[in-house]
Amino acid sequence: MIVILKPNAKREQLDGLLDWLHSKDITVHSSVGANHTILGLVGDTSRLDIDLIAALDIVEDVKRVQEPYKKANRKFHPEPTVVTVGDARIGDGSLTLIAGPCSVESEEQVVAIAKAVKAAGATMLRGGAFKPRTSPYSFQGLGEKGLEFLKAARAETGLPIVTELMDLTQLPHFKDVDVIQIGARNMQNFDLLKAVGRQEKPVLLKRGMSATYEEWLMSAEYIMASGNEQVILCERGIRTFETNTRNTFDISAIPVLRQLTHLPIVADPSHASGRSSLVAPLAMAAVAAGVDGLEIEVHNDPAHALCDGPQSLRPEVFESLAQKLFRLHDCAAELAEDTREEGQAK
Ligand code: PEP
Ligand code: MN
Repeated sequence: MIVILKPNAKREQLDGLLDWLHSKDITVHSSVGANHTILGLVGDTSRLDIDLIAALDIVEDVKRVQEPYKKANRKFHPEPTVVTVGDARIGDGSLTLIAGPCSVESEEQVVAIAKAVKAAGATMLRGGAFKPRTSPYSFQGLGEKGLEFLKAARAETGLPIVTELMDLTQLPHFKDVDVIQIGARNMQNFDLLKAVGRQEKPVLLKRGMSATYEEWLMSAEYIMASGNEQVILCERGIRTFETNTRNTFDISAIPVLRQLTHLPIVADPSHASGRSSLVAPLAMAAVAAGVDGLEIEVHNDPAHALCDGPQSLRPEVFESLAQKLFRLHDCAAELAEDTREEGQAK
């Protein structure tokens, strides 16, 4: 349930309402906007008398929220959530590029790629140290050593690091990373979601390969309900009947999630396509659809990469794409603004 307060709501009256709600075991999340304060009520609201609340002096409107996700719901929090990581502010209307190798292979490799992607305009470095691989015989990542190499790359470049946590036992090693990635295969590992919800670092939550928007948002809700509201959603393609591409990039996810949630949305055209030649068009489509950022795999020697070489861009290709993406983002933001104004004028 959400309660929209009148702009001039008196503090004492509000405190009275809050005390009453707490006495009914309802948790209240306030969202203070430019014009209105919205109270998001979480708990068993079925026992609350909606008419009684609506009749209060300070209340403008009361609405029941049907969706099972509350904290992630835009109705609870109309303003976009902005997640700050280093120099990047994801969700503030800018375009954040997160780039780097699929897997960390050596210190030299990750430092060289970090320098190149930074020069191209990326403000975060990605790189897997613990890798979820389909085959147990494939390279599984360098583990803790990989995390050390990522930190060396951060020390050299200043780029914050984004890396995947696969298992609860690895969490103590992640104290010093900047953003914890939860991969597609773990999107519904609820114990892992609760654990990253109990710590303070932002979480990049990738969409499970067969997850609906609601399942994905419920996974974000797990993290938020455990105390961590810094969640970034990442569309990375889903499993469909099409086998030509590694996954099917679900472009609709971007505008639909924009309506459903206030959380920042990024897209990963590398895993969505599986082919380097498709990364640029999908990245541009994602920017046109309004993403807050992109996660792109970049490797200095894709032919010899230990993981996901075929979908990795060479640094010089990434650099030229990044320039186009920033130009396109400015243009897309302007057109989106015009479209909003036209919508309001109707
Ligand atoms: C990755 O980003 O390295 C990765 C494994 O992605 P996903 O979980 O989307 O497959
Ligand atoms: Mn990969």
